[in-house]
Amino acid sequence: MPETFDTIVVGLGADGSAAAYHLARRGQRVLGLDRYAPPHTLGATHGGSRIIRKAYFEGQQYLSLLERAYVLWRDLEAASGCVLLNLCGCLNIGLPESQIVKESQQSAEAIGVPYARLPAAAVQRRFPAFHLEDGHVAVFDTEAGLISPENGVRAHLEQARRYGARLHFDEPALRWQPDGDDVAVTTAQATYRAGRLILTAGGWINDLLADLRLPLQIERVTNAWFRPKANAAHFHPSRCPVYIWEYDPDLYFYGFPDLGDGVKAGIHYEGALVDHPDAVERAVSETDHEAARVVLRRLLPDADGPFANTAVCFYTNTPDKHYLIDHHPDHPQVALASACSGHGFKASNAIGEALADLVTEQDLKVDIDAFRWRW
Ligand SMILES: Cc1cc2nc3c(=O)[nH]c(=O)nc-3n(C[C@H](O)[C@H](O)[C@H](O)COP(=O)(O)OP(=O)(O)OC[C@H]3O[C@@H](n4cnc5c(N)ncnc54)[C@H](O)[C@@H]3O)c2cc1C
Repeated sequence: MPETFDTIVVGLGADGSAAAYHLARRGQRVLGLDRYAPPHTLGATHGGSRIIRKAYFEGQQYLSLLERAYVLWRDLEAASGCVLLNLCGCLNIGLPESQIVKESQQSAEAIGVPYARLPAAAVQRRFPAFHLEDGHVAVFDTEAGLISPENGVRAHLEQARRYGARLHFDEPALRWQPDGDDVAVTTAQATYRAGRLILTAGGWINDLLADLRLPLQIERVTNAWFRPKANAAHFHPSRCPVYIWEYDPDLYFYGFPDLGDGVKAGIHYEGALVDHPDAVERAVSETDHEAARVVLRRLLPDADGPFANTAVCFYTNTPDKHYLIDHHPDHPQVALASACSGHGFKASNAIGEALADLVTEQDLKVDIDAFRWRW
């Protein structure tokens, strides 16, 4: 007889580790499966830091998820004893009429986060590492900052285990199928049965939803860490917030203060598209970071020193670059989330909780209407 569970979670990265935790905490019998041993460096959730912010230029449909995410990260810090958040603020930089400036200001007002709209000279006085170009301004989100993705996943998994979840690493789900109102999930080791299934396999989700042919794109992304060549103290988190700069229309550059391992930066959405996560080129060459260095010199000239480190990651993008969180369109006992399009970590805890609510038929604590099935 197959082993039975209330819910099986396939993929224990950002979203899946959170879902497993929320279900186990509610007393569910949970089995979590991952093809590797999370947190690992082969998915989308590594590299030491992710930006978390509320003045969200991607749109106000995210605000309820974001408010919930802050509450849940603080809860997880308390439960795990692990400090996850470093709220050093975020500069949303661009021309006054740019999407990043207009929309982040509107979101800040809608969510009620304290913010300041700063002209270039005021930014440089307050945060001397930054040299804004003429005419550019910044919306400073005071409640933003950074979060460790590895520690977030680790804390969720440890807490899930504490509440009794069974977590099987290095055991990929090969296939799943409806079994009456239940589901059966097969790995190389066994077939398991459960009343509910959550698919949070990140960039691999299409392997498990082949018949739906989701229009997702895998985009290779690289980050580089630069050693400042001057004024290293300007890059300390007490003087250097995280930032996103719309340096040309619809072109974004983002980065972090120096957490002791260099100034991390990257370009958003300009990476090579590949067919599958397993095809992502893992080797990094200096040319991978040339474009980032060119933009870095414009904004943070003192950071333009030698490379301290590099990392390869990938985004899983939807056509509209918005999240996907919903039931499977044909099988109500299955819920899924993925395709957070390069900006999903900050809300992954609230996404995991929403998935737990979907499969246990509880009232959602957040509004996910904008992120439901739409193809
Ligand atoms: C360079 C970079 C920078 C980013 N910056 C930010 C940021 O600043 N702020 C922000 O909010 N977001 C950011 N993001 C996005 C964010 O990190 C991702 O949206 C999020 O971490 C993805 O989580 P996930 O759970 O969907 O995927 P993952 O964390 O990759 O998890 C998927 C898991 O599924 C497992 N899996 C796959 N197939 C199977 C299978 N068949 N069986 C079992 N397990 C399977 C994988 O091993 C993996 O552990 C960034 C992403 C990248 C790449």
